[in-house]
Amino acid sequence: MPLTLTILGTASPHPGPDRPCSGYLVSGGGAEVWVDAGPGTFAALQRHTDPARLTAIWISHLHADHSADLLAAAYAFAFGGMTPHAPIPVYAPQDCARRLAGFFGRPDVEFLKGVFDFRDLHDGHDVRHWNLRLTARAVAHDTEAYGLRAEAQGSVLAYSGDSGPCPALTELAARADLFLCEADLGEHRDGEHSQQVHLTPEDAGRTAREARVRELLVTHVGPTLTREAATERAAAVFGRTTFTAVEGDIHSV
Ligand SMILES: [Zn+2]
Repeated sequence: MPLTLTILGTASPHPGPDRPCSGYLVSGGGAEVWVDAGPGTFAALQRHTDPARLTAIWISHLHADHSADLLAAAYAFAFGGMTPHAPIPVYAPQDCARRLAGFFGRPDVEFLKGVFDFRDLHDGHDVRHWNLRLTARAVAHDTEAYGLRAEAQGSVLAYSGDSGPCPALTELAARADLFLCEADLGEHRDGEHSQQVHLTPEDAGRTAREARVRELLVTHVGPTLTREAATERAAAVFGRTTFTAVEGDIHSV
């Protein structure tokens, strides 16, 4: 089973018609992993797979535009008859279970454990499901956040999550076949010494070039840009094949 990436949603910071927030289906090596659960992506996911049969769920960070549809999945799995035969591993920053339980007005997380098996991410977290290997790196954002490196059968997909420019992001993407990278900002608003928590298209292109990736796929383009303009600007710096992430597209890695 070769590595493939299905685009479920790319919008930032809110979903639009037929355009969910961040979410992807990564398939390969016999495994299927829902990567980021932005609003609208649980519905989109059902076009491509049976969510009850997911191998795992992997959440880059707990901002709502990357995680809120865990709630939709919890309803489906716990009350909607879409019951997984075993709790689905959820790799996420710490506190994910407690926050999700809060939506149900419950202080305990025990009732969620019948459908989700929460496992905290950390920098360097590394797990293998069948022949799909998932490695997390802590990246620069304004909350605990991770980028993902997914490898199967010699192919490598890297995903920025939400991140400012940082060495960990470049290391994560090193020589990836496909680098799915955010380009949220038209320009950095703050002074050069303040922490940068998102990328401009030029940052995405520069990171892709320095990491020597084969192809760049631009996603999570914020409201000050069009995704076409962001892709053009990123391509001008990267100098190699650059695509726009579009809902419903399936990329072979
Ligand atoms: Zn974020």
